[in-house]
Amino acid sequence: QREARCIMTETSKTKKVFFHTLGCKLNFAETSYLGKKLIEKGYEKTKEEKDADIYIINTCSVTDVADHKCRQAVAHLHRQSPNAKIIVTGCYAQLKPDEIIKLPGVDLVLGINEKLDIDKYVEEIESGHTGTKEIKDFYPSRSYEDRTRCFLKVQDGCDYFCTYCTIPYARGKSRSGSIESIIEETHKAVEDGAKEVVITGVNIGDFGRGNGVKFIDLIKELEKTDGIDRYRISSIEPNLLTDEIIDFVSKSRKFAPHFHIPLQSGSNDVLKLMGRRYKRELFQHKIEFIKQMMPHAFIGVDVIVGTRGETPEFFEDSKTFIESLPISQLHVFSYSERAGTKALEIPYIVSAEEKKRRSAELHEISERKLNAFYKAHHGQKATVLWENTNKNGYMYGFTENYIRVTTQYDKGLVNTFQTVELGDFSDDKILSLKAKA
Ligand code: SF4
Repeated sequence: QREARCIMTETSKTKKVFFHTLGCKLNFAETSYLGKKLIEKGYEKTKEEKDADIYIINTCSVTDVADHKCRQAVAHLHRQSPNAKIIVTGCYAQLKPDEIIKLPGVDLVLGINEKLDIDKYVEEIESGHTGTKEIKDFYPSRSYEDRTRCFLKVQDGCDYFCTYCTIPYARGKSRSGSIESIIEETHKAVEDGAKEVVITGVNIGDFGRGNGVKFIDLIKELEKTDGIDRYRISSIEPNLLTDEIIDFVSKSRKFAPHFHIPLQSGSNDVLKLMGRRYKRELFQHKIEFIKQMMPHAFIGVDVIVGTRGETPEFFEDSKTFIESLPISQLHVFSYSERAGTKALEIPYIVSAEEKKRRSAELHEISERKLNAFYKAHHGQKATVLWENTNKNGYMYGFTENYIRVTTQYDKGLVNTFQTVELGDFSDDKILSLKAKA
């Protein structure tokens, strides 16, 4: 409380806040929202670690690696500025507040519910407060100036309880905003200059549960909203990606032909062990239907390798299935043991070395598929939204179907759409095509 008064009365020096975000797009959207709240309270956001009076680490807890990154960040920032305050929030904070508050340098741990009231809690920074256990509210949030594309949170939490996942514990039950509140948030994004909105959440296909509406109702309303030229649907569970949604996107003037669908395994046996709510035949149908309706659509697919129970035979079966799919890219994750999950009851364990080998095999498939997808677009016209990055004199942007394009940096192009002809591969380390002038 003493420090709270200090922060409120000390008007001679504006407190500077540095944000460190780990994890998913949802976290980035929420971090931007936190930043905006603090700016409204008179704090200043800084991109310079060493200048900060307060560090806010927005964590992820999807794997052990994510937890480790948070601990590393705390240690690093505390070394950097031992007198600065450190606030930790996000999924790891919700799951293990007692573990985090003990880390040297940490002043405050905020749970998922509390983090979006950061402006109030920051004033109690020395109280040693630890995160709430009850997660029930929904806070609309979106990213602001940090990224050119606006990440709009429409849903939070998950009721699925896949056997390997801690997210339902960290983020609570599935809940979402009303369509009206999301349209209102979209209008605000337009006022802030957003041209493209990425619809995010934990399980966005579950949007509207308990409110009598569905995700399709939301996207139909968003389509009618003036000012946003392009929408993307972020990761959506295959069983919730209905044919009606696919059909709608294929006819939409604004929704990009870009899908991100978690498969997790191409083996029905492993899907069952994971507690996933579909079989691979359903997944295959979704992919084929997308390609039938939108042959040029980009399809990114998440896969986890080395889950408990994934025998070499199941992995081979999964790999063959994945190889057969007309998808554009894989996002490969190695299974990580999470305390409290049901997966730990499965006796068969895949060694770290074997996980690495399987991951490398799927990465190789992914690279081949992405190259082929990009190559098939050489010489075609596409519309790019240029982003605000200047890397060695080059900028980049994405086409409607998520091809990364580069051109020479031109400040005037930032946050504008430009129709370009797609040239050859760039020398960039990240796969990109060059925009032909
Ligand atoms: Fe976790 Fe499964 Fe929910 Fe995704 S759908 S957040 S993997 S429980």
